Amino acid sequence: MPDARQLRRAVRGLIPQPLRQRLYDWSPSRRRRWRRAPGLEAVPGEAVAVTFDDGPDPEGTPPVLEALAASGAVATFFVLGRHVRERPELARRIEAEGHEIALHGMEHRRHDTLSAAEAERELTSGVEAIEAATGRRPAWYRPPFGASSPTLAAVCGQLGLRLAYWSAWGQDWEESPPQRIAALVERDLAPGAIVLLHDSARYAQRERATATAGAIAPIAAAARARGLDLVSLSAAAGDGG
Ligand SMILES: [Zn+2]
Repeated sequence: MPDARQLRRAVRGLIPQPLRQRLYDWSPSRRRRWRRAPGLEAVPGEAVAVTFDDGPDPEGTPPVLEALAASGAVATFFVLGRHVRERPELARRIEAEGHEIALHGMEHRRHDTLSAAEAERELTSGVEAIEAATGRRPAWYRPPFGASSPTLAAVCGQLGLRLAYWSAWGQDWEESPPQRIAALVERDLAPGAIVLLHDSARYAQRERATATAGAIAPIAAAARARGLDLVSLSAAAGDGG
């Protein structure tokens, strides 16, 4: 018997990629959730915020850091407390190279179905893992799958975290060459965009995360051609950091 995940993957494989892409973009359930739990979907001003979810990852994060350095770009990494605990030195390297660390949760699971008490535990343990590794509290939180809820938004308020979503993405959870990831991001590369990418393949449908690092140089070149700087979320939001 195939499990639910294998079944979903098989069904997804029957849908042609251009249609899958449109379905990901369309997602009425995501829009409904974001309406009920408003967060940052774009930043004011001319810059573009680049963000990476699901790390730190010993395979995916270092090549992304190297590509960012080569492109002169600064980013925000939405990390998982579980992986920060496993690789605190990688979390410290992200910060040491001038990037920002934000919270994706302690565990990569649906957070929108948690009770207020469960959500508070989930987010608090993630914040503590980041503080233990870097000595700093994160300012931002983005739930796995963008699946937010009013309960989560309220818990964020209590913990001093700001909800952040995105306005552009590379759909890099799929097996995909760097050119396609970059082309998808470039569609929505406008002033104030928040770009979602992934520096890990752990929770993706692809085997390896390396294509994402290869997409950074073309994205940075396209941004420069439009006069846009690639910066961290806090810098783009005008918070200085
Ligand atoms: Zn994620």
